[in-house]
Amino acid sequence: MDFKQQRSEMVERQLRRRGIHDPRVLAAMGALPRENFLPPSERASSYVDDPVSIGYGQTISQPYITALMVECLELKGGEKVLEVGAGCGYHAAVLASLASEVISIEYVPELAEIARANLEAAGLSHKVRVICGDGSTGYEAEAPYDAISVAAGAPEVPEVLLAQLKDPGRLVIPVGSRDEQELLVISREHGKDRTRVATYCRFVPLRGREGWV
Ligand code: SAH
Repeated sequence: MDFKQQRSEMVERQLRRRGIHDPRVLAAMGALPRENFLPPSERASSYVDDPVSIGYGQTISQPYITALMVECLELKGGEKVLEVGAGCGYHAAVLASLASEVISIEYVPELAEIARANLEAAGLSHKVRVICGDGSTGYEAEAPYDAISVAAGAPEVPEVLLAQLKDPGRLVIPVGSRDEQELLVISREHGKDRTRVATYCRFVPLRGREGWV
């Protein structure tokens, strides 16, 4: 099966049938060539229903988790989004397809470089800026954000990220132990924050000041 066919099967079986309904999310993930974001050695696994290694001890989430996280942000198209943990840049590319501007922070310099190159090759570098640094404290220089997406597991919700979120705004972040987390969605409206659990998950640990030592 070629990648295009694998991609449409992924959207149908892993996303739509499991409850992802936002047509914009389904269209974005149906259009983006995920295989171009993975290291050459992992390309054959581009559409498997599991996390995949992207090197440097890090992984790209399974497609369903990416879709769920993005859907929870309820993006309409005009948003400014902060992503913490660019990895290979795939999730940032999905966000960029659905919002107007994405700032993505990556801790590992080599991955920041890879994410930049992948986003450039995907023709999305005009919408996404990849910054190398500690995103556990957000990115004050460009704050506030309509949406914040954290791609690594945190011990708790960093206050400093909440301080960089607009009203209305949405933050999605895995919170829990090093091994298991709840994917929390925090919705801010009229000065009030509501938190719900979207699913249980296993992310790589968030590093940096507000992460794990
Ligand atoms: N969204 C990515 C997957 C990211 S995996 C993708 O689509 O490929 C989580 C990433 O978070 C890893 O690349 C890891 O290096 C990064 N990370 C961990 N702690 C971080 C921090 N404090 N600041 C920025 N990035 C961090």
